[in-house]
Amino acid sequence: MLLAWSKMKTYVAFEANENNIHEIPLFFNSSVTKEGKLLNYKPFIFAGITKVKHLTYEVIPGFLKFIAIHEILSEKDADLKYDDVCKFYKNVLVSLPPEWVHFINENINPVSKNFEITADCFSFSVEDKEVPMPQSSRTFYNLLIQLVGKSPVSESYWIEKYPELELSKCYIFSNLYILPGECRELNFQVLHRTLFTKVKLLKCNMTDNDTCPVCAQSREDLEHMFINCVNLSQFTDFFKDFLLNFMCNVDDNFVNTLDFDQAMLMCF
Ligand SMILES: [Zn+2]
Repeated sequence: MLLAWSKMKTYVAFEANENNIHEIPLFFNSSVTKEGKLLNYKPFIFAGITKVKHLTYEVIPGFLKFIAIHEILSEKDADLKYDDVCKFYKNVLVSLPPEWVHFINENINPVSKNFEITADCFSFSVEDKEVPMPQSSRTFYNLLIQLVGKSPVSESYWIEKYPELELSKCYIFSNLYILPGECRELNFQVLHRTLFTKVKLLKCNMTDNDTCPVCAQSREDLEHMFINCVNLSQFTDFFKDFLLNFMCNVDDNFVNTLDFDQAMLMCF
């Protein structure tokens, strides 16, 4: 989950304001860094000093004094040296964004209001479009797939060949649960162009020629294997007739523009 969040984090903007500034975490926070490095001070974490509000007074504006921080830390570890604590605390203070420091020095910690950081403080943008923050794990996973998912190499081939093709629908139909496993596997291989045709085998040096072993007349690539092989003509004619009969009530324009090759390869 943390790895997934780190992938999404660069797309998330967080707006610090008077309602949440005291609740912001001090450590492992990319907004609080020293020389580009995230802060991680174990003595502070063990003592429960993990948020901006833990460094501030509750009744007056401003940050706690060094001696107060040392006192809190000493309760957990009596051996901590005052100078070391001061050094840590100074590092934390200089790592805070100046606008936060200014705000803290001007405003009282609204501790009694018990504010919480909610999803409303975040905005999330993908390709410059703002999208709602994930409200459910399903939305979260969809966003994650959108961010880290890579399109199969074969997609560019199919899009160039059939610009009108809706590949997302092909993926759904090719993987329908009602299909037998072998069928889904074959669909996957066709869609991803990973079927070992003779052309592919020759490229891998697994054969000495790329001629179709059925008709022995042409190179055996994917299109030849499923559509163009002369020995398939009976089947392709049958398939065309079948489709035309099946679509007897469909708009003529659609039938006239139907690409049978595409239907053969993508409708399986
Ligand atoms: Zn052939």
